[in-house]
Order: sequence, then C-alpha cells, then structure tokens
Amino acid sequence: MRSDVVVIGGGAIGAAVAYFLKLLDAGTAVTVLERDPTYGQASTPRASGGVRRLFSLPENIELSNFSILFFDEFAETMGVDGVEADIGLRKNGYLFVVPPSARDVLKRNFDTEQRLGCNVVWLEPDELKHRFPSMNVSDLGAAVYSPDDGWLDPHRVLMGFRKKAESMGTEFLADQVTGLVRQGNSVTSAKLKSRRQVEASQFVNAAGAWAKDICAMLDVKVPIEPLRRFEHYFECQDPIEPLPYLKDLERLAFRPESKGYTGGVPTLEEPRGYNFDVDHDYFEAVVWPALAHRFPQFERTRCRNTLPGLYDQNDFDGNAIIGPSADGLGNFYMLAGFSGHGLMHAPGCGRAMAELLLKGRYETIDLARLGWQRLLDGTPLREQGII
Ligand SMILES: Cc1cc2nc3c(=O)[nH]c(=O)nc-3n(C[C@H](O)[C@H](O)[C@H](O)COP(=O)(O)OP(=O)(O)OC[C@H]3O[C@@H](n4cnc5c(N)ncnc54)[C@H](O)[C@@H]3O)c2cc1C
Repeated sequence: MRSDVVVIGGGAIGAAVAYFLKLLDAGTAVTVLERDPTYGQASTPRASGGVRRLFSLPENIELSNFSILFFDEFAETMGVDGVEADIGLRKNGYLFVVPPSARDVLKRNFDTEQRLGCNVVWLEPDELKHRFPSMNVSDLGAAVYSPDDGWLDPHRVLMGFRKKAESMGTEFLADQVTGLVRQGNSVTSAKLKSRRQVEASQFVNAAGAWAKDICAMLDVKVPIEPLRRFEHYFECQDPIEPLPYLKDLERLAFRPESKGYTGGVPTLEEPRGYNFDVDHDYFEAVVWPALAHRFPQFERTRCRNTLPGLYDQNDFDGNAIIGPSADGLGNFYMLAGFSGHGLMHAPGCGRAMAELLLKGRYETIDLARLGWQRLLDGTPLREQGII
C-alpha cells in the first residue's frame, strides 16, 4: 500500500490532521492508522472537555483562539450529508483562581491574554465572591475569568473530525503499527500487525500517550510518558449557583455536568505507565477535601463514577512536541506530548501540522518554538503559573 501521508493514531489529534490535510489539498492521499476504532483506551473520549484561552505561552493562547472559534462553527463545518456535527459546546466560561502569592504571575498572563485578543476579566476576591457567592475566597488573591471559554463533548469532537475526514477521502485503517522502516534520515514505511505495510512520503506520530512506543520503533527517545489521571463524576445535594469550568493552582479542576459535576485533581506524582486501575480512595482522600474547601456545599458530595485516562505527559516541559527532525528524521513529524491540553488544541494543531506537511512552513500560527530543537538545546518552554 502507498499513501502520501500516514498518520499514526486516529484520536482527536490524528483525525484533525487528516481533516486539515484534505481541506488544504484534497488531492493528498491520507491514511490514518488507528488500532482501535472503538477508542477503548484512547485519551480523547476520556477527557473532561475543557476549552480555555487561559495560558501564559503565546503559542498556547493562539492555539486556543483558533480552536475555540473553530469549535464555535464545528457543527456546520464538520457536517456530513446535511447532518450537523453537534459537539455540545457550552460557553459557560472558565475561571482560574490563585492565592495571593501567585497574583503577579496571574497578572502577567492576563496581560498576555489581553494582548492576544482574549476576552478576559480580572477579578479581585470581593468581585469573585459577588459573582460566585458560594465560593470560599478567603485564601484567594485574584482570579481571571474568560466568559467565552467553556467545555464540549470530546467524543463528539473526535467523531466529527473523523467522519468529515473520511467523507473527504481519508482512509482510516483499523490496524496497529508494529514497526517503522528507516532508511538514513527518512521513514519509508509502517509495518502493521496484519502484516501489511504502508509506504508514504511523510509520517505523523499522533499516538498520544503511546507516542514514545512509536518513537522507540525508530530507536528515538522522547520524554513523553503515559500519566494516569482520574475524571470523577460527583453530585451535590445542596444547590450552588451556576459555575464555569473552575481551576486552581492546587490542580483542582471541575465543571458542571448534567445533574452534578465532573473533574478531578490530577497529580504529577503519579508513577508513569499504562495504568487504567481505579483508586477508589482517591476522590475521598484528595478531591473531596479540595472541593469542600472551595465550596461548603461539597461537604456532602458523593462520587458516582471514576474514569481513569492517560495524559500524554511531556516530562521535559509540559507542552506538545510538534514538527520533524527527531533524531534527524526529516519526514517523521511529532504531534504529541499535550500534557492535558490536546483536545482543546486539536483544531489549531491539526491545521498547523497540515501546513507544515504540505507547505513546509507554518502559515496560521507559528509553532516553531514547540519543535524538537528545544529538546536538543535543553531549553524547556514551560507554562508559567498555569497548570
Ligand atoms: C481524564 C482526562 C481529562 C482531560 N481533560 C482535558 C480537557 O479538559 N481539555 C483538553 O484539551 N484535554 C484534556 N485531556 C487531554 C486530552 O484528552 C488529550 O490531550 C487528547 O485527547 C490527545 O489526543 P490524541 O489524539 O493525541 O490521543 P488519543 O485520543 O489517545 O489517540 C491516540 C490514538 O493512537 C492510537 N494508537 C496508539 N498506538 C498505536 C499504534 N501502535 N498503532 C495504531 N494506533 C495506535 C490509540 O489507539 C489512540 O486511539 C484530558 C485527558 C484525560 C485523560
């Protein structure tokens, strides 16, 4: 078999790349290799669905600006045969609260967000209390609220991209990549579990939490590790005013969902690995105290469900690795390491990767600083004051 571009991994990221490739050049043959079309362990359907502009790095803010506007029109743009692709977008806002010690960093980020055109509102603790009367603000120094952000349904985003890309001629092969053939500074083909082989001119590693296994097939080491985190669904008997997606510096992150709330407290202390076990004590030991501290109503909350999932955690600096040149390989492109931001950035990254593959340069958002070179230079590009 032969294709122009082979995308390894058909989650939100891989499917978005396929869509934008076809959009920019309908004649490009695109094959997405996805071993599990049910996405049983993939990260995308397990995500919380938060979409926000609250970052410190201009690249991440611009990715959000592009992506959230794209999500605004997703239903129509991704419609196939007159059927809209509803993604359940709720623009109920995103709120980032910090202690007094983090005010200055929050203010710097707020200024950057404003400079890049985001609609963000600075809130002092009394203003925060006025807007959200149930919230305990006694230990808070300030907050930034972005009313145009919110959340959506991750699985529907994935299926929207996938179905649209398929309707435009992308082939999704249900097969597992078991090896990659390297000749000098190029990858020439992917070996599949079915014993088939796909040759291509360009290869994209969009395997998420499994990206390092794909790299290992080329003897390339990458600091992207699978990091388990739990998404809990919990309910609260005592009413709370309508809340946005809320996040604090202790890593508490949650939002309203149906009759209750969904969210958790991810930790970087978690051992790396493909671990899908559920720790049923985690909610009570870690999440519940954080919730009850912020809103007294959660003193009487109850966890109804806990879903484990994996971050593709970039232990080098917590940001995606985007672009070619891993170990000098000119036609092998990384697109992984999103460390918890991949869903919200799928449109922007999909577009950027398509530009890079087809035109050899970024046209919409310059993501050059997120390339492989920073690993070689030992210069991490970390978010500041944002988790
Ligand atoms: C609990 C949780 C909450 C999250 N919340 C958010 C959030 O609120 N907002 C946000 O933006 N992000 C969030 N994320 C992160 C987000 O889910 C990921 O960044 C994003 O889904 C990554 O998409 P992906 O396509 O790279 O990975 P995946 O969806 O995991 O897709 C990778 C695919 O590669 C396939 N694959 C792997 N190896 C091979 C192989 N050898 N051959 C063929 N196929 C292969 C896998 O089967 C998989 O389907 C969250 C993640 C978790 C776990």
